[in-house]
Amino acid sequence: MHRAHFLRLMGMLPLTGAAMQLQDLRRFSDTFAATDPMPVLFVGHGSPMNAIEDNVFSREMKAMGQKVPKPKAILMVSAHWETKGTFVTAQEKPPTIHDFGGFPQALFDVQYPAPGSKWLAGETKAAVKKTTVAESNDWGFDHGCWSVTRNMFPGADIPIIQISLDYSQPPQYHYDLAKELAVLRRKGVLIVGSGNMVHNLGRMVIPSNGDLNSPYGLDWALEARSLFKKHIESGNHSPLIGYKNLGRAVQLSVPTPEHYLPLLYVLAQQEKTDQLSFFNDVAVAGSLTMTSVLIGKV
Ligand code: ZN
Repeated sequence: MHRAHFLRLMGMLPLTGAAMQLQDLRRFSDTFAATDPMPVLFVGHGSPMNAIEDNVFSREMKAMGQKVPKPKAILMVSAHWETKGTFVTAQEKPPTIHDFGGFPQALFDVQYPAPGSKWLAGETKAAVKKTTVAESNDWGFDHGCWSVTRNMFPGADIPIIQISLDYSQPPQYHYDLAKELAVLRRKGVLIVGSGNMVHNLGRMVIPSNGDLNSPYGLDWALEARSLFKKHIESGNHSPLIGYKNLGRAVQLSVPTPEHYLPLLYVLAQQEKTDQLSFFNDVAVAGSLTMTSVLIGKV
Protein backbone atom coordinates (compact mmCIF):
# COMPACT_ATOMS: atom_id res chain seq x y z
CA MET A 1 0.00 0.00 0.00
CA HIS A 2 1.27 3.43 -0.86
CA ARG A 3 1.91 5.89 1.90
CA ALA A 4 -0.16 8.52 0.14
CA HIS A 5 -3.12 6.20 0.09
CA PHE A 6 -2.82 5.37 3.74
CA LEU A 7 -2.41 8.98 4.68
CA ARG A 8 -5.68 9.79 2.93
CA LEU A 9 -7.45 8.24 5.90
CA MET A 10 -6.74 9.59 7.91
CA GLY A 11 -38.30 -4.14 37.54
CA MET A 12 -40.32 -7.41 38.64
CA LEU A 13 -40.58 -7.80 42.43
CA PRO A 14 -44.41 -8.17 42.58
CA LEU A 15 -44.16 -11.85 41.74
CA THR A 16 -45.40 -13.98 44.65
CA GLY A 17 -43.05 -16.65 45.89
CA ALA A 18 -45.36 -19.44 44.75
CA ALA A 19 -45.70 -18.02 41.28
CA MET A 20 -42.05 -17.42 40.72
CA GLN A 21 -40.76 -19.96 38.32
CA LEU A 22 -37.14 -20.84 37.76
CA GLN A 23 -37.14 -18.86 34.54
CA ASP A 24 -38.34 -15.78 36.38
CA LEU A 25 -35.61 -16.23 38.95
CA ARG A 26 -33.00 -16.29 36.22
CA ARG A 27 -34.44 -13.17 34.68
CA PHE A 28 -34.46 -11.54 38.10
CA SER A 29 -30.79 -12.23 38.68
CA ASP A 30 -29.84 -11.13 35.16
CA THR A 31 -31.49 -7.82 35.76
CA PHE A 32 -30.47 -7.02 39.29
CA ALA A 33 -27.43 -8.95 40.44
CA ALA A 34 -24.34 -6.88 41.01
CA THR A 35 -21.73 -8.61 38.95
CA ASP A 36 -18.01 -8.79 39.52
CA PRO A 37 -16.39 -5.84 37.83
CA MET A 38 -15.86 -6.49 34.16
CA PRO A 39 -12.34 -6.10 32.80
CA VAL A 40 -11.53 -2.98 30.82
CA LEU A 41 -9.52 -2.87 27.60
CA PHE A 42 -7.49 -0.38 25.64
CA VAL A 43 -6.88 -1.84 22.21
CA GLY A 44 -4.38 -0.46 19.72
CA HIS A 45 -6.23 -0.75 16.43
CA GLY A 46 -3.55 0.35 13.93
CA SER A 47 -4.27 -0.28 10.29
CA PRO A 48 -7.93 -0.83 9.40
CA MET A 49 -6.70 -3.95 7.59
CA ASN A 50 -6.39 -5.62 11.00
CA ALA A 51 -10.16 -6.01 10.77
CA ILE A 52 -9.84 -8.57 8.00
CA GLU A 53 -6.26 -9.81 8.09
CA ASP A 54 -5.15 -12.86 10.00
CA ASN A 55 -2.01 -11.51 11.69
CA VAL A 56 -0.32 -11.39 15.09
CA PHE A 57 -2.45 -8.45 16.20
CA SER A 58 -5.83 -9.72 15.05
CA ARG A 59 -5.04 -13.12 16.59
CA GLU A 60 -4.32 -11.49 19.98
CA MET A 61 -7.60 -9.58 19.75
CA LYS A 62 -9.44 -12.83 18.97
CA ALA A 63 -7.76 -14.53 21.93
CA MET A 64 -8.73 -11.65 24.23
CA GLY A 65 -12.34 -11.90 23.07
CA GLN A 66 -12.39 -15.52 24.16
CA LYS A 67 -10.80 -14.74 27.54
CA VAL A 68 -13.06 -11.96 28.79
CA PRO A 69 -16.37 -12.84 30.45
CA LYS A 70 -19.19 -12.45 27.93
CA PRO A 71 -20.36 -8.86 28.35
CA LYS A 72 -23.98 -7.84 28.59
CA ALA A 73 -23.06 -4.90 26.37
CA ILE A 74 -20.00 -2.98 25.19
CA LEU A 75 -19.27 0.71 25.58
CA MET A 76 -16.80 1.66 22.88
CA VAL A 77 -14.64 4.77 23.03
CA SER A 78 -13.21 5.10 19.53
CA ALA A 79 -10.57 7.55 18.36
CA HIS A 80 -12.64 8.03 15.23
CA TRP A 81 -15.72 9.75 16.67
CA GLU A 82 -15.01 13.31 17.71
CA THR A 83 -17.82 15.77 18.40
CA LYS A 84 -18.53 19.06 20.13
CA GLY A 85 -20.26 17.84 23.26
CA THR A 86 -20.68 14.19 24.22
CA PHE A 87 -22.93 11.76 22.35
CA VAL A 88 -23.84 8.09 22.46
CA THR A 89 -25.12 6.08 19.53
CA ALA A 90 -28.79 5.35 20.03
CA GLN A 91 -29.94 3.23 17.09
CA GLU A 92 -31.27 -0.28 17.54
CA LYS A 93 -29.28 -1.29 14.48
CA PRO A 94 -26.25 0.99 14.13
CA PRO A 95 -24.80 1.14 10.61
CA THR A 96 -21.24 0.01 9.87
CA ILE A 97 -19.27 3.10 8.86
CA HIS A 98 -16.35 2.84 6.45
CA ASP A 99 -14.49 5.96 7.52
CA PHE A 100 -11.32 5.64 5.46
CA GLY A 101 -10.06 5.80 1.91
CA GLY A 102 -7.51 4.01 -0.23
CA PHE A 103 -8.12 0.50 1.05
CA PRO A 104 -9.17 -2.66 -0.76
CA GLN A 105 -12.82 -3.23 -1.57
CA ALA A 106 -12.88 -6.14 0.89
CA LEU A 107 -12.60 -3.62 3.73
CA PHE A 108 -15.50 -1.57 2.38
CA ASP A 109 -17.55 -4.75 2.12
CA VAL A 110 -17.30 -5.43 5.87
CA GLN A 111 -20.55 -5.25 7.79
CA TYR A 112 -20.63 -5.62 11.56
CA PRO A 113 -24.31 -6.10 12.40
CA ALA A 114 -24.14 -6.03 16.21
CA PRO A 115 -27.25 -4.49 17.80
CA GLY A 116 -27.20 -1.18 19.62
CA SER A 117 -28.40 -0.89 23.21
CA LYS A 118 -31.03 1.58 24.36
CA TRP A 119 -30.39 0.18 27.84
CA LEU A 120 -26.69 1.05 27.82
CA ALA A 121 -27.31 4.44 26.23
CA GLY A 122 -29.67 5.17 29.13
CA GLU A 123 -27.25 3.85 31.75
CA THR A 124 -24.43 5.93 30.28
CA LYS A 125 -26.52 9.11 30.23
CA ALA A 126 -27.56 8.47 33.84
CA ALA A 127 -23.99 7.81 34.99
CA VAL A 128 -22.47 10.99 33.58
CA LYS A 129 -23.14 14.07 35.70
CA LYS A 130 -20.34 16.18 34.27
CA THR A 131 -22.17 17.03 31.10
CA THR A 132 -25.35 16.17 29.25
CA VAL A 133 -24.83 13.11 27.11
CA ALA A 134 -27.04 13.36 24.04
CA GLU A 135 -28.26 10.54 21.83
CA SER A 136 -27.12 10.51 18.21
CA ASN A 137 -28.61 8.78 15.20
CA ASP A 138 -25.92 10.21 12.93
CA TRP A 139 -23.13 7.77 13.74
CA GLY A 140 -22.84 4.02 14.11
CA PHE A 141 -19.83 1.71 14.32
CA ASP A 142 -16.70 3.32 12.88
CA HIS A 143 -13.61 1.30 12.00
CA GLY A 144 -12.02 2.08 15.36
CA CYS A 145 -14.88 0.03 16.78
CA TRP A 146 -15.39 -2.78 14.30
CA SER A 147 -11.73 -3.40 13.47
CA VAL A 148 -11.51 -4.50 17.12
CA THR A 149 -14.93 -6.04 17.79
CA ARG A 150 -14.98 -8.03 14.56
CA ASN A 151 -11.90 -9.83 15.89
CA MET A 152 -12.94 -10.07 19.53
CA PHE A 153 -16.61 -10.92 19.00
CA PRO A 154 -17.00 -12.27 15.46
CA GLY A 155 -20.57 -13.37 16.16
CA ALA A 156 -21.64 -9.70 16.35
CA ASP A 157 -24.20 -10.78 18.96
CA ILE A 158 -23.25 -8.44 21.80
CA PRO A 159 -24.98 -5.03 21.88
CA ILE A 160 -22.60 -2.12 21.43
CA ILE A 161 -22.84 1.62 21.77
CA GLN A 162 -20.16 4.18 21.04
CA ILE A 163 -19.52 7.30 23.11
CA SER A 164 -17.92 10.25 21.35
CA LEU A 165 -14.86 12.28 22.27
CA ASP A 166 -15.58 15.97 22.87
CA TYR A 167 -12.78 17.59 20.90
CA SER A 168 -13.26 20.92 22.69
CA GLN A 169 -12.20 19.50 26.08
CA PRO A 170 -8.77 18.95 27.68
CA PRO A 171 -7.44 15.54 28.77
CA GLN A 172 -8.36 16.01 32.46
CA TYR A 173 -12.00 16.52 31.46
CA HIS A 174 -12.02 13.21 29.59
CA TYR A 175 -10.40 11.38 32.52
CA ASP A 176 -12.92 12.82 34.99
CA LEU A 177 -15.88 12.04 32.74
CA ALA A 178 -14.57 8.50 32.31
CA LYS A 179 -14.48 8.06 36.12
CA GLU A 180 -18.24 8.52 36.14
CA LEU A 181 -18.60 5.54 33.83
CA ALA A 182 -17.00 3.20 36.39
CA VAL A 183 -20.41 2.04 37.69
CA LEU A 184 -20.95 0.29 34.37
CA ARG A 185 -18.25 -2.29 35.10
CA ARG A 186 -20.53 -3.85 37.73
CA LYS A 187 -23.47 -3.96 35.35
CA GLY A 188 -21.81 -6.39 32.96
CA VAL A 189 -20.52 -3.70 30.60
CA LEU A 190 -17.19 -4.09 28.86
CA ILE A 191 -15.61 -0.68 28.36
CA VAL A 192 -13.21 -0.67 25.43
CA GLY A 193 -10.99 2.21 24.35
CA SER A 194 -9.76 1.91 20.78
CA GLY A 195 -6.87 4.07 19.57
CA ASN A 196 -3.09 4.00 19.52
CA MET A 197 -0.83 5.42 22.25
CA VAL A 198 1.80 6.38 19.68
CA HIS A 199 0.16 7.57 16.47
CA ASN A 200 1.84 9.95 14.07
CA LEU A 201 0.73 9.23 10.52
CA GLY A 202 2.86 12.08 9.13
CA ARG A 203 6.03 10.31 10.28
CA MET A 204 5.19 6.81 9.14
CA VAL A 205 7.90 4.71 7.58
CA ILE A 206 6.41 2.27 5.13
CA PRO A 207 8.48 -0.92 5.03
CA SER A 208 9.80 -1.94 1.64
CA ASN A 209 7.63 -5.07 1.76
CA GLY A 210 4.57 -2.83 2.15
CA ASP A 211 3.51 -4.62 5.33
CA LEU A 212 2.41 -1.93 7.76
CA ASN A 213 2.54 -4.48 10.58
CA SER A 214 6.25 -5.21 10.30
CA PRO A 215 7.72 -4.43 13.73
CA TYR A 216 9.65 -1.19 13.58
CA GLY A 217 9.70 1.86 15.82
CA LEU A 218 11.58 5.13 15.48
CA ASP A 219 13.65 6.04 18.55
CA TRP A 220 11.19 8.62 19.85
CA ALA A 221 8.26 6.23 19.34
CA LEU A 222 10.03 3.53 21.35
CA GLU A 223 10.96 6.07 24.02
CA ALA A 224 7.34 7.22 24.31
CA ARG A 225 6.10 3.63 24.43
CA SER A 226 8.43 2.91 27.39
CA LEU A 227 7.45 6.10 29.16
CA PHE A 228 3.72 5.43 28.75
CA LYS A 229 4.11 1.87 30.01
CA LYS A 230 6.16 2.99 33.02
CA HIS A 231 3.46 5.46 34.08
CA ILE A 232 0.64 3.00 33.38
CA GLU A 233 2.37 0.36 35.52
CA SER A 234 2.90 2.86 38.34
CA GLY A 235 -0.85 3.45 38.59
CA ASN A 236 -0.21 7.20 38.83
CA HIS A 237 -2.21 8.62 35.98
CA SER A 238 -1.36 12.31 36.50
CA PRO A 239 1.64 12.33 34.15
CA LEU A 240 -0.45 10.53 31.53
CA ILE A 241 -3.25 13.08 31.80
CA GLY A 242 -0.58 15.79 31.51
CA TYR A 243 1.13 14.00 28.61
CA LYS A 244 1.84 17.26 26.83
CA ASN A 245 4.52 17.90 29.47
CA LEU A 246 6.26 14.56 29.04
CA GLY A 247 8.81 15.82 26.54
CA ARG A 248 9.64 15.73 22.86
CA ALA A 249 9.25 11.98 22.30
CA VAL A 250 5.66 12.09 23.59
CA GLN A 251 4.90 15.29 21.71
CA LEU A 252 5.97 13.59 18.49
CA SER A 253 3.99 10.47 19.41
CA VAL A 254 0.74 12.29 20.19
CA PRO A 255 0.53 15.13 17.66
CA THR A 256 -3.27 15.09 17.97
CA PRO A 257 -5.18 13.76 20.99
CA GLU A 258 -7.89 11.50 19.49
CA HIS A 259 -5.94 8.22 19.35
CA TYR A 260 -4.51 8.77 22.84
CA LEU A 261 -7.62 9.90 24.74
CA PRO A 262 -9.34 6.47 24.70
CA LEU A 263 -6.45 5.29 26.89
CA LEU A 264 -7.45 7.82 29.57
CA TYR A 265 -11.04 6.50 29.49
CA VAL A 266 -9.68 3.03 30.20
CA LEU A 267 -7.15 4.00 32.88
CA ALA A 268 -9.84 5.98 34.71
CA GLN A 269 -11.63 2.66 35.36
CA GLN A 270 -8.69 1.16 37.25
CA GLU A 271 -9.31 0.25 40.89
CA LYS A 272 -6.54 -0.33 43.42
CA THR A 273 -6.96 -4.10 43.36
CA ASP A 274 -7.05 -4.42 39.58
CA GLN A 275 -4.33 -6.35 37.85
CA LEU A 276 -2.93 -4.85 34.68
CA SER A 277 -1.15 -6.37 31.71
CA PHE A 278 -0.10 -5.45 28.18
CA PHE A 279 -0.62 -7.23 24.89
CA ASN A 280 0.23 -6.50 21.27
CA ASP A 281 3.06 -4.39 22.65
CA VAL A 282 4.76 -3.74 19.33
CA ALA A 283 5.75 -0.62 17.38
CA VAL A 284 4.97 -0.69 13.66
CA ALA A 285 5.56 1.57 10.67
CA GLY A 286 8.00 3.63 12.72
CA SER A 287 5.46 5.93 14.33
CA LEU A 288 2.62 3.73 15.61
CA THR A 289 2.38 1.41 18.60
CA MET A 290 -0.14 -1.38 18.89
CA THR A 291 0.42 -1.54 22.69
CA SER A 292 -2.82 -2.62 24.33
CA VAL A 293 -3.85 -2.78 27.98
CA LEU A 294 -6.00 -5.21 29.96
CA ILE A 295 -7.26 -4.06 33.37
CA GLY A 296 -8.95 -6.51 35.73
CA LYS A 297 -9.51 -10.25 35.79
CA VAL A 298 -10.21 -12.43 32.78
ZN1 ZN B 1 -7.33 4.94 13.99
